[in-house]
Amino acid sequence: MSFVGIVTHGGAGSPKEWRDGCEHSADIGLKQLLENHSAYEAVLKAVVFLEDDGRYNAGSGSSYRLDGKTIEMDAAVMSSDGKLGAVACISGVKNPVLVASEVVCSPHHILSGAGSVLFARKKGFPEYYPDIRWAKERYEKLLTTFLKKNGDSAAEYEIQDFVKNWNFETASSEIFPLDTVGAVAKDKNGNFAVAVSTGGSGAMLKGRVGDTPLIGSGFFAGAHGAVACTGIGEEIMKKLLAKTVYDLLAQGIAPEAACEKGVRLFPETIPVGVIAVSLEGAGYFSNTGMAAAILERRE
Ligand code: ASP
Repeated sequence: MSFVGIVTHGGAGSPKEWRDGCEHSADIGLKQLLENHSAYEAVLKAVVFLEDDGRYNAGSGSSYRLDGKTIEMDAAVMSSDGKLGAVACISGVKNPVLVASEVVCSPHHILSGAGSVLFARKKGFPEYYPDIRWAKERYEKLLTTFLKKNGDSAAEYEIQDFVKNWNFETASSEIFPLDTVGAVAKDKNGNFAVAVSTGGSGAMLKGRVGDTPLIGSGFFAGAHGAVACTGIGEEIMKKLLAKTVYDLLAQGIAPEAACEKGVRLFPETIPVGVIAVSLEGAGYFSNTGMAAAILERRE
């Protein structure tokens, strides 16, 4: 029996109430798959929807960095038929994941910072700055967490580490959440694809790049499946989590079990979530709340 399927998520730590957006984006992706479009097109459309939603920390909902005004986003796409593109620390665009899909057609695989913005303009992406309401809400929450030092695992940072390394134009004395989005899919031709996008995680210096645009860390796709990760990027990249879970899929381990094994590599104090699709089916697992949705059709 063959199947097509898609999994979408709204980030490690995203509340269950946000599941509707993941369901809607999975539905958009599934329609693509049923109409014989590729897994690559399906995940792109699904992630664009999540970037535009505004609740998730990606695209229009991206968080501020520690200065309370800088927004820098990461995104990536990959397919089992050889497409690979990513942007890191991009700003002033509506859909970083679409810029990543343009990088696929360039001589490179990753573009970052000012170069990625100029590249986006060259490709016709207009200047766009999201509704600051979302970023402001997140920033205020972050400040409260910092100042209270309430032991929230997602924000166990040493404030002094950030002050010592301050690299914004404004002074550090003026200051102090997760919820990346992602999708993985399998199409009728047996191809797999993954797309991920984020405004970053928790407290961030200017220029900080997380796991999201790093192949094998935040995402991976190959002949055995596709994987997307969410959580604290600094931890995820040390374990090459997406490739680790992909290797489990390649050994024949079912997607949900593979995601769980991947997540269990981290102590529970580190929020992590993984979604995956393989030749067998689709699944996800998180050690914290994570809005997510799976849609499959078997024939
Ligand atoms: N992994 C992302 C990052 O560290 C954040 C997230 O998944 O919510 O940038």
